[in-house]
Amino acid sequence: MALERTFSMIKPDATRRNITGKIVDRLESAGLRVVAQKRILMSKATAEAFYAVHRERPFFQELTEFMSSGPVVVQVLEGENAVLKNREVMGATDPSKADPGTIRADFAESIGENSVHGSDAPETAAEEIAFFFSGSEITG
Ligand code: ATP
Ligand code: MG
Repeated sequence: MALERTFSMIKPDATRRNITGKIVDRLESAGLRVVAQKRILMSKATAEAFYAVHRERPFFQELTEFMSSGPVVVQVLEGENAVLKNREVMGATDPSKADPGTIRADFAESIGENSVHGSDAPETAAEEIAFFFSGSEITG
């Protein structure tokens, strides 16, 4: 099966609690390889651009304020079925509904402050990777 890449982000609630390593361990243990990674502070405008697809949703202001409230770790993950595998390891958006043993079940604080983002399809993965990384920053 072909290798696939997905985009992942460790959110400000997790960087604040110093648990980025614990989250990376979950990703790597699931067979995903970190082929690019950097820690950045998004401006409000950058968060709004990244989440533009959600701009009409009622939580857009809350989401973009939270995502620009502290550092995030942006990553490119590689592996077989990486998009789906990452979504499985993350668990449901709402931690109270996430399966036991998933990142969000074990670490997320609320539906908004839910520790991780992961692309939902290969097409969005390609867009989100290109939003943060140039080709020379990604190496398997
Ligand atoms: P992500 O896109 O971050 O991987 P997701 O695909 O599980 O998460 P989306 O529906 O795309 O969830 O929502 C994007 C993000 O917006 C969520 O991860 C969460 O941080 C925030 N969010 C979603 N629903 C709510 C809500 N009802 N209230 C507050 N924040 C929310
Ligand atoms: Mg989403």
